[in-house]
Amino acid sequence: MFALVFVPLERLVALRQQPVFRPGWTTDVIYYVAGCFVGKFSDAMSFGAMLLIRQLGGLDSSSIVATQPAWVQFLELVIVADFLAYLLHRALHQYAWLWRFHRVHHSSRRMDWLANVRLHPVDKILGDCFQFIPIFCLGFASAPLLAYTIVLGFQGFLNHSNTRISFGFLRWIVASPQFHHWHHCDDSEAYPEAYNKNFAPHFVIFDRLFGTIYLPRDRSMPERYGAPESVPAGFWQQMIYPFRSPDWASRVSPQVERSAVFEGQVSLSASETQGPR
Ligand SMILES: [Zn+2]
Ligand SMILES: [Zn+2]
Repeated sequence: MFALVFVPLERLVALRQQPVFRPGWTTDVIYYVAGCFVGKFSDAMSFGAMLLIRQLGGLDSSSIVATQPAWVQFLELVIVADFLAYLLHRALHQYAWLWRFHRVHHSSRRMDWLANVRLHPVDKILGDCFQFIPIFCLGFASAPLLAYTIVLGFQGFLNHSNTRISFGFLRWIVASPQFHHWHHCDDSEAYPEAYNKNFAPHFVIFDRLFGTIYLPRDRSMPERYGAPESVPAGFWQQMIYPFRSPDWASRVSPQVERSAVFEGQVSLSASETQGPR
C-alpha cells in the first residue's frame, strides 16, 4: 500500500534521480514481508507483557488516560512514544552490542521510502516492545492508538524517502526527511559533526533538548549514506551478521567514536584502530 503513495511521490519531488529498483531493493522487499510477521510477533509480546504487568501491578484497564478526549490522548501518545524511541535509538547507537543490530538499518547506501523497513528483527522487536509496553500500560484508548500507528508508519516511510519535501519552518519542530537523512549520513571527512545525531522519529524537540540535533539552515542534504563498517548485502547474511563477530564486549560503537573524534576527545587514528569491526 505504501508503494502506491511513495513511488509516485518520489518521482514527483525527487531529491535525486535514482531508479526505483536501486541496488538492495530485493533485500528490502524481503524485509518488508518479514517485517509484517515480526511486527505481529512483537505486538503480541508487547500486549502479553502489558497484560502481565497489569495483572501483577493490579492496574485498572479503564485508566484516567483513556477517559480524556481522543485528540489529547493522540498528542500525549506521540510525545511519549517519541521520547521512548529517542532513548532507545540513542542507546542503539551508543552501545556496541546494540549497534551490531541497528547498523543493519544504517547499511543502506541509497535512501528511499523502502530503506525504512530494513531493520534486523532484534532491532524491530526491541523498538516495538520498548515503545508499546509502556504505552499499553498507560491505557490509551484504541482509536488514538490506531491513529498513532498510522502516523508512525507514514512518517517513517516519508523521512527515509528520496524526496525534497522540506516542511518549511515546521522542520524546526517536526522530524522531516532532511532531519532523518542526516541521521543516515556516513561521511566522516566532510560531516563528522553529523554522526550520532537526530534520533527522534516524530519531533525535533528531544534532540534539541539533549544536544543531539544536526539540521543545517541551508536545507542541504548529505551526499553519502551508510554505516562506517561494511555490512553484507543479502537478507540472510544480514540476519546472522550481528551474531558472527566474537567481540561482544560493550565497547562504544564506531558511531560514538566518530562523534568523539569531532568533539576532539580522541584522535582519528586511535578510533580507527580500536573500534569494533
Ligand atoms: Zn539510527
Ligand atoms: Zn532510518
